[in-house]
Amino acid sequence: MTQKSLGKATQAIHAGEARTSSADKTGVPLLPPIYQNSTFRFATAAECAEAFRDEESGYVYTRWGNPTQEVLEQKLAVLEAGEAALATASGMGAVSTALLTALADGGHVVAMENLYSATFQILNEELPRFGIETTFVDATDPTQIERAIRVDTKVLYLESPTNPLLKLVDLQAAAEIAKARGLTSIIDNTFATPCGQQPIIFGIDVVVHSMTKYMSGSGAVIAGAIIGKKEFIVSAKEGALRNFGAVISPFNAWLTLHGLTTLPLRFTRHSENATHVATFLEAHPAVAWVRHPSLTNHPQHELAKRQMDAFGGMITLELKGGRAAGEHLVDHLQLCSLAVSLGDVRTLICHPASTTHSHVPADIRRRTGITDGLVRISIGLEDAEDIAADLGQALESYTP
Ligand SMILES: *Cc1c(COP(=O)(O)O)cnc(C)c1O
Repeated sequence: MTQKSLGKATQAIHAGEARTSSADKTGVPLLPPIYQNSTFRFATAAECAEAFRDEESGYVYTRWGNPTQEVLEQKLAVLEAGEAALATASGMGAVSTALLTALADGGHVVAMENLYSATFQILNEELPRFGIETTFVDATDPTQIERAIRVDTKVLYLESPTNPLLKLVDLQAAAEIAKARGLTSIIDNTFATPCGQQPIIFGIDVVVHSMTKYMSGSGAVIAGAIIGKKEFIVSAKEGALRNFGAVISPFNAWLTLHGLTTLPLRFTRHSENATHVATFLEAHPAVAWVRHPSLTNHPQHELAKRQMDAFGGMITLELKGGRAAGEHLVDHLQLCSLAVSLGDVRTLICHPASTTHSHVPADIRRRTGITDGLVRISIGLEDAEDIAADLGQALESYTP
């Protein structure tokens, strides 16, 4: 069939497009290309049948796998020292897919308290509707993990450092308990990234990420990841991910894989800037206390030094002036931005009591450490002196 004999509609769709992959005359593209397509064409019925029989032999449909996703997944597995990885549409897509995979036969979960709010809601509201219960413990104390394990416990679910109080879990101790009791240990490594800590090296089974944050780094995408043993990843890929459908788009996979190329550089700078700004704030008269794992007054500073390679860009502080001082601070910033999320190149600040946690009753907020003067800062990649100066001018313009 020549192009000329085809109708306009057919020409508009097919003209100029390669029917084979041998049209490549320019060598290997230096940037992995975006395969922004939902499906893949086969030359013959036999080739198509083979791809269905053996998925490793070819791509069929992007919900099942796509070359751009796979470039990202190979990078993720290497960075987290895992056997294999899956990219997902969001951090919550990764959390839910990992939990559904590890809890395929039902069972009970032991999780740390103060989890990321949507994860807490999955464990506290969604899974109980399907008969899966969770016991929440203070996992900074390994004996509390041990005590909460039941005969039907299948999963130990952790975060470290936690949001927003930056508490740490002893990864090796937690992994040893999970191994001894036959549990799948899962950790959300969003705050630390593989440049801050590699949980799989300490014996944790599965790592999940919100790549919306440091991993992609520019605030341009919502994305997630799961890293672990090949068997677990294949089971997640062919089961919960494919069927529930939290699949990453090729474009978001491509943006994220570019973000990852600068993660080590960015994370080092985020961490250095955070230490600089935390030290500045600690000495400021308007500030009651500052938390960052690099500071010697962090209650788990020794553990941080033992298991972390860099301490990250998240700092939390308490203002002496309480809620009014917190609201004044976020209202008077000239450089930093009032925004949720974290891990962006830009410095982002939030005041939980007036925003993310405003619907939580005051007594529960206090009990869980979300005090009225608490401010969380995701330190960006600006010059540290400029970030400190912006915070300083906003703090100093406050009069009670
Ligand atoms: C943001 C975040 C999530 C959720 O990720 P999304 O990409 O928004 O779905 C999960 N865990 C942690 C620790 C997060 O910060």
